Amino acid sequence: MKAEIISVGTELLLGQTVDTNAAHIARSLAGLGFSLYRKTTVGDNRARLATVVREALERADVVITSGGLGPTEDDLTKETVAEVLGIHLVESPEVLSDIEGFFASRGTRMTANNRKQALVPEPSSGTFFRNAVGTAPAVVFESGKKRVICLPGVPREMAYLINSGVEPYLRAYLTRNGAGEVIVSRIIRTIGIGEASLEERILDLACEGVNPTVAIYASEGECQIRVTACAREEKEAWMLIEPVERELEARLGRSIYGYDDDTLEGVVARRLISAGARLSVAESCTGGLICGMLTGVPGSSSFLERGIVTYSNSAKRDELGVDESTLRVHGAVSRETAVEMACGVVRTARADLGLSVTGIAGPGGGSADKPVGLVYFCLADTEKTSVITARMMFGGDRRSVRTRACKFGLDLLRRHLEDAWT
Ligand code: AMP
Ligand code: MG
Repeated sequence: MKAEIISVGTELLLGQTVDTNAAHIARSLAGLGFSLYRKTTVGDNRARLATVVREALERADVVITSGGLGPTEDDLTKETVAEVLGIHLVESPEVLSDIEGFFASRGTRMTANNRKQALVPEPSSGTFFRNAVGTAPAVVFESGKKRVICLPGVPREMAYLINSGVEPYLRAYLTRNGAGEVIVSRIIRTIGIGEASLEERILDLACEGVNPTVAIYASEGECQIRVTACAREEKEAWMLIEPVERELEARLGRSIYGYDDDTLEGVVARRLISAGARLSVAESCTGGLICGMLTGVPGSSSFLERGIVTYSNSAKRDELGVDESTLRVHGAVSRETAVEMACGVVRTARADLGLSVTGIAGPGGGSADKPVGLVYFCLADTEKTSVITARMMFGGDRRSVRTRACKFGLDLLRRHLEDAWT
C-alpha cells in the first residue's frame, strides 16, 4: 500500500514554520506498514493544491494532508479535496456542538467563520474524527479504494487525531485491503568516530536494497546509524534487526553511547546516578551549556553539585584558584589551565568529579599556535585520584565549536564513568 503526505501552508513553503507534521505522519505511516515515496509541500492556493492532490491520488492509495482546516479564507484544504473527488460537504451537528462547547468552555464567543470547520464529507463518501483538543476535526474522503485524510496543521491537534482516529482507521483499512508490511527502525547513537571512518567500518553492512537497511546520519559531534527492517509482523522485523545490531556493537564498541531516543546527557546522568557520584563543572568557552544540557535531564539535582562559568582570567583565578603564573605562562586556553580549573572546582564543591572546558570558539581570538576551535578539557576525579586531560581541534563556526565541545566533555565523562565507576 502506497501513501503520500501533503503539507499545506504558505508559511511552510517560505520556511517560516518548520514542517514537523510531515515527519510525525511519516513515522506513523511507516509503523503501519505503508510505503512512502513522496512528500509534497504546497502553499495556501486552491488551484495548486488541487493539482497536487490529483497527482498524489494517481500514485498513492492513501493521501494524508495537514494544514488548511482553520476558519479563515485561506484555509481551503477540505473544500479543495471535496471538489477534486466530487464529494459534497455537509455540516455535522455533532462537530458543530463540539466547536460550540470548545468556545463555551473557554468563555469566548464562536465566530461565524468557525462554522465551516463543522463541514465533513457526506456520510456515503467519508467519515470524520472528532477533535478533543481543538476545533478542527480530521476528515476522511473515501473514493473507491482511495482515501484522502485531512488533518489540522496545529501539531498537537494533528498528533491527537493521528493517534485517536487515523491509526485505528488505517489499520482497519489495511486489514480489509490486504495487510501491509511493518517497518521498524533501531537508532544506534555513536560519538567519537567521524562519519567517513564510521562508514568505512560498516560499509559492507550498508549496501542498498538489503533487509534490514543500514544508514548513517551525521549531526554535530555525533553520528547515528539507523537499522530498518521490513516484515509482515513486527516481531519478525525486530528479529531481522537483532543480528545486525549485535554486529554493529561488536565493531563499534564504546563509541556507541545509546539507542533510539537516548541523549548523551541523559546517558551520562544515568551513569552518574547509578555510580552515586557528584559532579561539578567549570566552563569557559561553553558558557554554561554543559550544565544547561545536564540540568535538562530530570533528576539532575541528585548528581550535579554546581557549575561555574569562569569566562575571564580573574574569574578563573578568584573562583577556581587558577594560578596567576599558569595563566601568564601557558594562557587561559591550555592544558595547565584546564587542569587547575577542574581541580579547583572539584575542591571548592567538595564533589567527586570536576569537569573543565577552556577553548577558543571564534570567530576572533585565534592565533597561529592557538587557532579557533582549539579546546582543552580536564576531568579530575578525587575518589579515584585521577586526572584526565584532552586537547581537541573542532571545526565549524562558533556555535558548532561550542556544541562539539559540550558533547566531547560529556563523552569524556561517560567513558570515565564506564571505566572507573562500574
Ligand atoms: P493551519 O491548520 O494551516 O491553519 O495551521 C495552524 C497552525 O499550525 C499554524 O500556526 C501553522 O504554522 C502550524 N502548522 C501548519 N502546518 C504545519 C506543519 N506541517 N508542521 C508544523 N506546524 C504546522
Ligand atoms: Mg495554514
